[in-house]
Amino acid sequence: MGIAFVHLKAILLILHIMLIDNHGREINYMRLAVTDRCNLRCFYCMPEEGITYAPKKELMSFAEMYHIVDLFSKHGIDKIRITGGEPFLWKDMMTFLDAISKIPTLSKISITTNGTLIHDKVDRLKSVGINTVNLSLDSIDSDRFFQITRRDDFSKVMESMDLMIQSGIHVKLNMVVMNGRNIEDIIPMLELARDKPISVRYIEEMPFNGTQGQGNKTLWTHTQILDLITTHFPKVQKLVDPPASTAMNYKVPGFKGDFGIIAAYSRTFCGTCNRIRLTPKGVIKTCLYDDGIFNVKDMMRSGANDEELIGALQSALGNRAKDGREAEQNRKALNPISESMATIGG
Ligand code: SAM
Ligand code: SF4
Repeated sequence: MGIAFVHLKAILLILHIMLIDNHGREINYMRLAVTDRCNLRCFYCMPEEGITYAPKKELMSFAEMYHIVDLFSKHGIDKIRITGGEPFLWKDMMTFLDAISKIPTLSKISITTNGTLIHDKVDRLKSVGINTVNLSLDSIDSDRFFQITRRDDFSKVMESMDLMIQSGIHVKLNMVVMNGRNIEDIIPMLELARDKPISVRYIEEMPFNGTQGQGNKTLWTHTQILDLITTHFPKVQKLVDPPASTAMNYKVPGFKGDFGIIAAYSRTFCGTCNRIRLTPKGVIKTCLYDDGIFNVKDMMRSGANDEELIGALQSALGNRAKDGREAEQNRKALNPISESMATIGG
């Protein structure tokens, strides 16, 4: 069985329908940030003022993004997450989802959104086959929500959550855990999973906040989060994590939903990383912490053909950092980290 699997992997590799990096990890997942624009100003992601958005001509077009998704999916990227910026600010988002949902080589499309612009789109999301949405919600207190996002949109996000649950979309609530900001929300957020079939995901804060040298000087780590939860719920059970999961998953017995902790700063999951990122400007990142490996948009605009695009991807994967620490050390242009997560695609 094992040998047969190795042979199958080798055949798929030779046929170029599987992507493997230099550490033997299969890469089958891409996060595509369709825009760097956002209608919120979450302080851990971007500064309140002084943001310079990329000029439109520097952003990938609909056709360019579609081409890359279609091409890469034929070579092994069969799962895609659409993110941003706020993806629903992009006027073509629903048409794009509709278009990529028809690509037969894509097996799963998911979305990360702040949930402020989707309450009238939930049925359409379901009809194009979106079954999972990651919804960012850092507090269940409207005042703290305002302090964190600098916008008064708490009720819209809660409404979107309920509408998605009602329509059968699996909601994963993304909460960035921040000392002095929302520690008091950790347990109430988990309480939402008592009666709702949601997954609460606690995320360590990372330094991608669009300002140099600030960020998580007093990081709340994944172990602190779990310790706090187990103090309140001593019977917490560990769940089996799906392959390549970034979250360590748990359940409180009797709760409808579950929860996960993502050690995004501590980087405990790099060993099984299966993902690449494509930024709104067309930059391929083989690790969140690298500062960009090559630019597919520039290649396409200079006339590169599909073989050259796939060749560039294979070559980037053949030289991939083994983990986020190494990727961070290898940074050249943007060191130390100063990008906004909105320009990368979280
Ligand atoms: N605007 C959408 C949203 O907020 O869900 C999608 C883009 S946002 C950049 C994607 C995810 O990255 C969100 O869940 C957000 O909380 C997370 N994020 C942004 N900045 C972060 C940071 N500095 N550390 C950890 N997570 C961050
Ligand atoms: Fe916008 Fe998402 Fe960044 Fe918040 S986390 S500022 S919603 S891109």
